[in-house]
Amino acid sequence: MFDYLIVGAGFAGSILAERLANQSGKKVLIVDRRNHIGGNAYDHYNEAGILVHKYGPHIFHTNSRDVFEYLSHFTEWRRYEHRVLASVDGQLVPIPINLNTINKLYGLKLNSFELEKFFESVAEPKDSIRTSEDVVVNKVGRELYEKFFRNYTRKQWGIDPSELDKSVTARVPTRTNRDDRYFTDTYQAMPLYGFTRMFENLLNHPNIKVMLNTDYREIRGMIPYKEMIYTGPVDEFFDCRFGKLPYRSLDFKHETLNESVHQTAPVVNYPNEHLYTRITEFKYLTGQEHSKTSIVYEFPKAEGDPYYPVPRPENAELYKKYKALADATPNVEFVGRLATYKYYNMDQVVAQALAVYAKLSDRSRWQPEEKNGH
Ligand code: FAD
Ligand code: UDP
Repeated sequence: MFDYLIVGAGFAGSILAERLANQSGKKVLIVDRRNHIGGNAYDHYNEAGILVHKYGPHIFHTNSRDVFEYLSHFTEWRRYEHRVLASVDGQLVPIPINLNTINKLYGLKLNSFELEKFFESVAEPKDSIRTSEDVVVNKVGRELYEKFFRNYTRKQWGIDPSELDKSVTARVPTRTNRDDRYFTDTYQAMPLYGFTRMFENLLNHPNIKVMLNTDYREIRGMIPYKEMIYTGPVDEFFDCRFGKLPYRSLDFKHETLNESVHQTAPVVNYPNEHLYTRITEFKYLTGQEHSKTSIVYEFPKAEGDPYYPVPRPENAELYKKYKALADATPNVEFVGRLATYKYYNMDQVVAQALAVYAKLSDRSRWQPEEKNGH
C-alpha cells in the first residue's frame, strides 16, 4: 500500500515526492505518462553530445531564498544571467527594452533621464490597465508596442494582446538604464549537471518508486494508495466536464549545426518575422564547450501537449469551476502549472509544492487518528 500516488514527475510532483518520503517517511509511487522524469524542465544529451532542453529553454531564477536553498540540496549551480536580443527593423537589440535598445533602434544618444522623458512623450497613459496591450502602450507607446510586443504575442498566444491579461506582457519590464539582463532576481543560476540530474537526486530515495510511460488512469484500480497528488491538466482530471480549458502548445524544432557558435545571444526573439517566436542556443545556458552547437526554434500552436495556461477573464471563470470541483475532491491535492492553471515559473511551482507539503504535514500532525484510520 502506497501512502501517496503522485501523478506527474515534474517540479510539483518530484518535490512533493521528495518531501513526503524524506521528511515524513511516506511511501510514494510517482507516475508519468512520458518516458522521462523532469516534466517540461527535462534536459538530455542529444546525439551530438550537447545538453539540450527538450521542451524549450529553461532558465532558473528566483527571489526566494527558501526555494534556492531547498533546491541546492539536490544540485550544485552554475551562475548564469540570461540575455535576449530581439530582431527589430533589421537590427538585433536588447529586450527588455532599455537605454541601449532605444539608442540603437533610433540612432540616438539619450541618457537615462532623457529616455524617461522620451517614454513620457510617446506613452499613451491609461486610466485602468487590464490587458497585455494596456501595460506596454501605457509605458512605451504604440510604436514600440507594435515593434516588440504585438506580433510576438499574437504568434505566441493566437490572440491579440488586448485580449490577454496584463500579467502576460508585464513579465517583460521596461528599463531606462543599460541593464540588459532578462531577469533581475537575486538568485540566477543553472543546475550544474542539468535539470534531469537534479530530478534524479530529488527522487533518489528508497521510499519513492518511479513508474514511467504510465498514465495514472491505467493503474488507478490496480495499485492501492491512500492519497493522490495530481499535477496534470485540471480539466482532464474531471474529463473536461465543463469544457476544455485552453492551453497553448508549441512545436520544438531542434537542430545541431556544424559551427561552434550560431548566434550572438542565448536567445533571439523574432516578433515580426517567421512562424517561430524565438531561437535558443543551448551552450550559452549550460556553459558546455563543444565544436558543434544545438539550437531550438519554437513554433506556437493551439493543439498538442499543454504548455501554457492562457490568462484571460473567460478562462479564469472556467478554471474557477474546476477549482471548486478540485476543492471538493477528498484526498487529492492539485499542484503545479497545469493543475492550478497558473502561468508559473519553475521557482513558483517549487514554492507552491513546498507550501502544499507544509499543509499536508500539518494536517497529519493534528489528525493522527484520521490518518491511521485509512
Ligand atoms: P510539468 O513540468 O508540466 O509536469 C507535469 C507532468 O505530469 C508532465 O511530465 C506530464 O507528462 C505528467 N502528466 C500529466 N498528466 C498525466 C497523467 N494523466 N498521467 C501521468 N502523468 C501525467 N520556467 C522558468 O522558471 N524559467 C524558464 O525559463 C521557463 N521556460 C519555459 C519555457 C517553456 C517553453 C515552457 C513550456 C515552460 C517554461 N517554464 C519556465 C515553466 C516551467 O516549465 C514550469 O513552471 C514547470 O516545469 C512546471 O512544473 P509542473 O510540475 O507544474 O508541470
Ligand atoms: N513578449 C513579446 N515580445 C518579446 C518577449 C515577450 O511580446 O520579445 C510577450 C509575449 O506575449 C510573451 C510574454 O511577453 O508570451 C512573456 O514573455 P516570456 O519571455 O516571459 O515568455 P516565456 O519564456 O514564458 O515563453
